[in-house]
Amino acid sequence: MNDFKARRERLFDKMYDNSLAVVCSAPIQYRNNDADYKFRQDSYFYYLTGFEESFAIAVLIKTRGTRKYVLFCQEKNQEQERWTGNRVGVLGAQNELGADHAFPIAEAGLKFPQFFKEIKTVYYLVGKQPPFEAKLFSWIQSLQKMQRQGITPPEKYVDLSLILDELRLIKEPQEIEIMQKAASVTIEGHQRAMLKAQPGLYEYHLEAELSYAFYQGGCQHQAYNAIVASGANACVLHYVKNDCQLKAGDLVLIDAGAEYQNYAADVTRTFPVSGKFSTEQQAIYELVLAAQQKAIQVIKPKTPWQSIQQNILEILVMGMIDLGILKGDKDGLIESEAYKPFYMHNSGHWLGLDVHDVGKYKVENEWRPLAENMVLTVEPGLYIDEDSPNVPEKWRGIGVRIEDDILVTADGCNVLTEALPKTVDDITHFMQS
Ligand code: CA
Repeated sequence: MNDFKARRERLFDKMYDNSLAVVCSAPIQYRNNDADYKFRQDSYFYYLTGFEESFAIAVLIKTRGTRKYVLFCQEKNQEQERWTGNRVGVLGAQNELGADHAFPIAEAGLKFPQFFKEIKTVYYLVGKQPPFEAKLFSWIQSLQKMQRQGITPPEKYVDLSLILDELRLIKEPQEIEIMQKAASVTIEGHQRAMLKAQPGLYEYHLEAELSYAFYQGGCQHQAYNAIVASGANACVLHYVKNDCQLKAGDLVLIDAGAEYQNYAADVTRTFPVSGKFSTEQQAIYELVLAAQQKAIQVIKPKTPWQSIQQNILEILVMGMIDLGILKGDKDGLIESEAYKPFYMHNSGHWLGLDVHDVGKYKVENEWRPLAENMVLTVEPGLYIDEDSPNVPEKWRGIGVRIEDDILVTADGCNVLTEALPKTVDDITHFMQS
């Protein structure tokens, strides 16, 4: 709980005096009839509170130098808790979660207007929590009627994500430890899928192996829907049906990550269903791998974000010319984006509580320089669609992506997912083991 308190203090430091910041918990998501999806806390709310229940609101109030952390939550209720599980309750919110004051969520409408007494600035997550935002502004609206009692509505509204995204982008040591755990469990899942793969199974059978390893490793969520794409399915970037049969001679692309204490891993490996790459598959694979390795080499503090993609493009485009997939000169093909039919996405993304984590990629119109303790993915790919008329037939239907999770260190980087086989030799040997 000290880690969460320290984060709230950092947020307080950045808030104006006479201001209030507010974040709401995630709602329960309806699935069908009377069944809900498994609960996943809102990442911002979790980052500040460490609190894993719905129906909660966190408020940070900073007035005349004092700092107050207020939590609204569900009250203890034996009858209801018997059905839906244990609640922290109002006392627990103070004793266990460190709130200075805690109130039942049912009293939010009553209590909130009182918080605004000396408040000039309100920080909230603009557009990210629409039902709560509507409620918040209805409470603020009710202040209009209290003006004669000396309560004046706030004057300024600021997007809280401007502060929180910057804090979340730089990972604390404890966060890095948690992310390493998510990465390690993810490695076990991918290894298990590699070992179990064989012709005749279905893609979802490999997803079952991933899930098994994730749960066994203490991760009760996938960080996102796993992609298990065999053969030409790999050319569909967000393929999640995972319902085709694995065929001898095909590659299978698995993009899957475990979530540990709400932190994501995000890893992709592409390997042959029957353990052996064909000549063409190997050529494409080694090209993507060379691009990924080159990109990882340039990751260190001060490297601008976009130079990761530049390094990937140099290698991919040069290689595609050599393989006869593209024709022309390298710089011209990069300039005209002739590679786009085969490589249509960016080099990767920030990684953290969200798989596509928060944080700007451009600051004041310049690509952001990397800094120590950022975590990002590097994930080049090549996807030669089955209907690529201008590409020699032998390359068609091959899709490869390779993705690792990378921590920027003081003088370079640390690949959190290093232990997962990646070279053609490593994968081939591992699958035979
Ligand atoms: Ca991914």
